[in-house]
Amino acid sequence: GITECMPSLVPMEINEPWISSLQGLSLRNVTVTLYQGGKDVYQEFGEMLFTHYGVSGPIIISASSYVGKKLKEQNLRLEIDLKPALDEDQLDHRVLRDFEENANKQFKNALGRLFPSKLIPVMIQLSGIDPEKKVNVISKEERRAFVHLIKHLPMTVTGLRGYNEAIITKGGIRTREVDPGTMESKQVKGLYFAGEVLDLDALTGGFNLQIAWSTAYAAGSSIK
Ligand SMILES: Cc1cc2nc3c(=O)[nH]c(=O)nc-3n(C[C@H](O)[C@H](O)[C@H](O)COP(=O)(O)OP(=O)(O)OC[C@H]3O[C@@H](n4cnc5c(N)ncnc54)[C@H](O)[C@@H]3O)c2cc1C
Repeated sequence: GITECMPSLVPMEINEPWISSLQGLSLRNVTVTLYQGGKDVYQEFGEMLFTHYGVSGPIIISASSYVGKKLKEQNLRLEIDLKPALDEDQLDHRVLRDFEENANKQFKNALGRLFPSKLIPVMIQLSGIDPEKKVNVISKEERRAFVHLIKHLPMTVTGLRGYNEAIITKGGIRTREVDPGTMESKQVKGLYFAGEVLDLDALTGGFNLQIAWSTAYAAGSSIK
């Protein structure tokens, strides 16, 4: 038998229209968390990047391995913590300091040290704070909500990209129907399996190549 096949280790499509304005931006040292309903199902720290349709890069590709079947039930929420090294109080102090140093500047001109320039218009839009507002009249509540946004930049995952962009295939020949010592089918004598065709998949890091080589070695040795 064959289990359901789907592309895996693949970029994600994001619903929010502002995503395309971030195309080409890569972020280092961020934490992404995936939520299904209210529950976090995956969290990773590292590097990611934005594309015209959504998100990609190492931590997104790894995260995709956990979402395939879940996405069939409902959209997932992805949050980016842009400043994972600081908790909300520490980040609030940092933002306050930036605002104090730029007291007479407008909000839209006071964010250059917090974010890459491509991200600034998106963060302003999502903050709901008037971009023309002088930072010295931004209220504590507005600032705290902005700090929360920086640690929980929200987006909606609506789908995964297809096989053309996938690193591996999830699903395949049921492993319990294959003899693990010889890789011979338990149902059809003389039929051997190796690699991607098997219902085996792993995260990046060489594990998928190892699966291909080890199963092929076992099958080859046994056939010989
Ligand atoms: C961009 C990219 C990066 C990757 N990076 C990593 C990594 O860093 N680490 C890791 O572990 N894995 C990585 N992988 C996954 C890894 O390459 C695969 O898991 C592995 O190559 C699977 O080996 P395989 O021999 O089973 O299949 P494949 O390597 O896909 O080989 C199947 C072969 O069969 C041929 N073929 C197909 N149909 C027919 C047909 N009808 N007749 C004759 N020939 C046919 C194909 O042309 C192909 O040569 C990566 C994959 C991609 C796409």
